[in-house]
Formats: sequence, C-alpha cells, structure tokens
Amino acid sequence: SMDRWIGKVAVVTGASSGIGAAIAEHLVECGMKVVGLARRLEKMEEMSKKLIGKNGVLHGLKVDVSIPEEIIEAFGVIEKRFGPVHILVNNAGLFKCTSLVDGDYKQWKEIFDVNVMGLCVATKEAIQSMKKNNVDGHIVHINSVTGHVIPFQLLNVYPASKFAVTALTETLRVELVQSESKIKVTSISPGFVITELSEKAGVSAETAEKYPHIFPEDVVDSVVYALSTPPHVQVHELIVRAVNAK
Ligand code: NDP
Repeated sequence: SMDRWIGKVAVVTGASSGIGAAIAEHLVECGMKVVGLARRLEKMEEMSKKLIGKNGVLHGLKVDVSIPEEIIEAFGVIEKRFGPVHILVNNAGLFKCTSLVDGDYKQWKEIFDVNVMGLCVATKEAIQSMKKNNVDGHIVHINSVTGHVIPFQLLNVYPASKFAVTALTETLRVELVQSESKIKVTSISPGFVITELSEKAGVSAETAEKYPHIFPEDVVDSVVYALSTPPHVQVHELIVRAVNAK
C-alpha cells in the first residue's frame, strides 16, 4: 500500500510532461507533497491548479537538471519549505538521435548532462536529505529498455546514457548496503511510450501510433508497485514494454 507515503515529500524530475507528469499526478492523488523539477515551470503550475482538491499537492520548481548548482539549490529550498525528501523519481531525460560516427559532441554532452549527471546529483542530494533526517526513503530511476539492450535503430549515443543508469542503479544499491542503509533503489525501464519525447525527436504521432507502445500510466503502475513493497522488500529492476515490441 502507498499509505506510508501520505503527507511525505516526493521529488520528481521532469514532472512537466509525459511519464514524469503522470507519476507526479499519481503521487499527489496518493496524498504526497510532490515537488516537480523541470525547466517549464508554467506546465507544472497548470498541473498544480488541475490537482487542487486532491489529497496531496504539487509544487513546481524551475530547475535545469543539466546544471548541478540548480539541483543543489532546489534541494535546499525543498528541505526548508516542505521537509525531508522521502522519494526521488529521477525521470528527467533527453532523447536525441545523434551519431557517434558523425554526430555533434555538444549533443552527446547534453544527453549525458541530463540523463546521467542530473540523475547523479539529484540522487546525492536526496540521499543526504534522507540520511540527515533518518528517513528510509526510495530512489526510483526511470531508465529505458535501451539501458539493457542496444536496439538496431538510430538511437546512437542515447543508449549509452541509459546503460550508465543501469550501472548507477547497482552502484547505489551496493553503496547503500555498505552503509547499512534501509533506503531502496529501483530502476524501471520502459519500452516505447507515447509522449512528447518521440515528437521532439521528429517522430510523427501517426508513425508512433503504429509502433507497439505503452502509456505513461503503465509506467506509473510499476512505480506504484515498487513503492508499495513492505520495508524488507526491494524491487531492483523492472522492464516494461508493449506486447509484440520489436
Ligand atoms: P518527455 O519529453 O515527455 O519528458 C521529458 C521530461 O524531462 C520533461 O518534463 C522535461 O522538462 C524534462 N527535462 C528534459 N531536460 C531537462 C533539463 N535539462 N532539466 C530539467 N528537466 C528536463 O519524455 P518522456 O516522458 O517520454 O521521458 C521521461 C523519461 O522516460 C526519460 O528519462 C526517458 O529517457 C525515459 N524513457 C522514455 C521512453 C519513451 O518511449 N518515451 C522509453 C524509455 C524511457 P522541461 O522540458 O520542462 O525541462
């Protein structure tokens, strides 16, 4: 059950659209104080208005997760204004088809700054908040199927960032074990989900529809499953894709 999280603080990166927005909304419905971190503050403000009257609340903070200082500052604000962090969902992600052979290194850096560095910095800040306040919290990474198998499609450098997320999930688990912490870490790896992500990468809605896909709500179900386990159970890895996904 999600009851133990009622009234607690959840931080969701990339809460302004797609999977992150669906997760943030659901955690609000479960009664959590959700803080969304993304660049498009106006999107999160629209969402908070829509969520008035639900059990929990959504607060948006304008943060570019590719800038470590902005994440660190945001966590300071969160602790002061809302209290210790109980859940962090590292969802913010950037998808670009950029070739290793003739691509642009600035795009590779952008992908790694958001998908890997942003996740690392937010994780450190959340763990510090949890440890300082004696909270047995939960870190959830929104990884990708491409963090486990490299597809024969033009995804190029992107899967490397998600393989890093897979490695960092295990790194964090081991470090938490070594420090005898009860904080949990889970990696959830969706297959193709219809969101703004594919649109931004130039895939038309029509083409996207034809490809076997799941929806943001299906990813939310996995997040809820991982967050609902009793204190002694830790779900490490989930891969969730459409039936017939190629
Ligand atoms: P969207 O493009 O719909 O959402 C991406 C989110 O990340 C937005 O809220 C965006 O917010 C945020 N974001 C991107 N860059 C930054 C940044 N520099 N600083 C802060 N926030 C940022 O994509 P999805 O919902 O599809 O993707 C969410 C996650 O799921 C990603 O990690 C993605 O890799 C992963 N995923 C997606 C799949 C899919 O098929 N859609 C499949 C497998 C994994 P803003 O622009 O307001 O800053």
